[in-house]
Amino acid sequence: MAINILLVEDSPTELEFLKKGLEDNGFVVETATNGSEAYNKLYIFTPDVVVSDIIMPGIDGYQLCRIIKNDEETKRIPVILLTASEKKIDAFWGKKAGAQLFLAKSIDINDLAANIHATVRRYPINQEYKFNLATIAGTIDSVQYKSNAILNDLLMKSTFSNEFRNLNDFLNYERILVEKLFYLLSSFVEYSIAGIYFASPDSFAENIMYIDTLGKNISKSLLSDICYDFSRKMEEQKHTETFKFEVVKMLLGKELDYNFSDFSSKIIIPLVFDKKLLGGICFYSRKKIDYSSFRYFDIMISELLALFKTKYQYTEKEFMSVLDGLTGLYNRRQFEIGLEQEFNRTKRHPADFSLAILDIDYFKKVNDTYGHQYGDYVLQMVASLMKQCFRKTDLLYRYGGEELVMIMPETNIDGALVPVQRLRNTIEEYNFEYNDIKTKITVSIGLTMNYQDFSTSADLLKSADGALYQAKERGRNRVVMHGK
Ligand code: GH3
Ligand code: MG
Ligand code: MG
Repeated sequence: MAINILLVEDSPTELEFLKKGLEDNGFVVETATNGSEAYNKLYIFTPDVVVSDIIMPGIDGYQLCRIIKNDEETKRIPVILLTASEKKIDAFWGKKAGAQLFLAKSIDINDLAANIHATVRRYPINQEYKFNLATIAGTIDSVQYKSNAILNDLLMKSTFSNEFRNLNDFLNYERILVEKLFYLLSSFVEYSIAGIYFASPDSFAENIMYIDTLGKNISKSLLSDICYDFSRKMEEQKHTETFKFEVVKMLLGKELDYNFSDFSSKIIIPLVFDKKLLGGICFYSRKKIDYSSFRYFDIMISELLALFKTKYQYTEKEFMSVLDGLTGLYNRRQFEIGLEQEFNRTKRHPADFSLAILDIDYFKKVNDTYGHQYGDYVLQMVASLMKQCFRKTDLLYRYGGEELVMIMPETNIDGALVPVQRLRNTIEEYNFEYNDIKTKITVSIGLTMNYQDFSTSADLLKSADGALYQAKERGRNRVVMHGK
């Protein structure tokens, strides 16, 4: 059967020349003189291949190619672009537009014919496909409208990608990442409340759900309802403990008085890759919104997946490493290993060792007042003061967010009290100053040692935690020893 070509060329002489040459080679040729006309004819003429010039008024060859390749109905039709120049960048751009082949206009007509034959053989269009295409032809009321929509979608897609990819710069600042992500999402998704959760490869890590309330204050019970709802969905993917939640961007003000049953619509999306839960995202709205029919939902989800994947890998790398990136202290994983080792060692060869946990007082307020960057500075500084107050043989770790721990081998609790008190005092006296902001900081510390009655290292850790709790209870800026 003869091969049908849709030939697109704005110059009449060029068009005539090519048409004749191709017909002489046995092709059936239909012509169009610009992109819009070509796109319209595609449905009526149903060609086996489109051969198009690039530079044309209105919709040009690249755009035509993009439209064809992004229209579900026409995307299988191969496109050959003809160019006057032989610049590499044109070929690159043509490939990116989805063209199957890119040829110089100066090509000999018989070579062009051979290339067309080869392309059609490689990308065959069957009769059924053509028939279906022709059936749709009548229903397209405006070709211009459809092609515009396709081009807009493409632009939207790449704009989306860019916006999401810009967030990659903030992988090591989870708070900032979260804030920027909420900002981005809120600019195109309608919601009353949104939530984000990044899963961690560290099974000890806290599960934090960040919530954006768009600056509104909502009740504690509504927050916990949302956390419960969200965590249930996450649990289906992976066993997770209850979520601790943090509220980002919630201003103090009049509390909004609505509850969970007032939401008219919601969507919870677990982000899963390779059977691993990378995190999740959710939207709740008081308005009636059909989230699943949201026009750019698929693009958004694939971008979110890419972001969460990178974030997960980043956390994994951090987790696998020994040191904490911010403070330079050993990380939590090392602490777990170190504590266990010291505990077992002193069980076998009886010796004392002490353990202290430090927590910065009212640290949330520091962050809220001066920003997270300042908070990070304080944390780094506290870690650095800590290094100065202890012996080389003492082991210092960052346990969690703003909690630092110290293991002091060969030291009983009274001996440990000396450097621990010195540290507390040093921090209290220190003038924290960064970016012209000066503050005073205090810390609370819980201190314990390996008493006989602790049968596991977890008991020991719990006693340090309990002492820290007491230090907070008794007014902060103090050291409390276990049992005292
Ligand atoms: P308290 O005296 O009871 O300890 O009050 P607090 O405000 O310190 O309370 P809490 O311990 O619950 O708050 C810890 C805060 O520390 C929450 C979080 O915003 C902040 N934080 C945790 N990790 C980091 C970090 O790496 N950088 C910064 N800037 N802040 C952090
Ligand atoms: Mg804390
Ligand atoms: Mg604190």
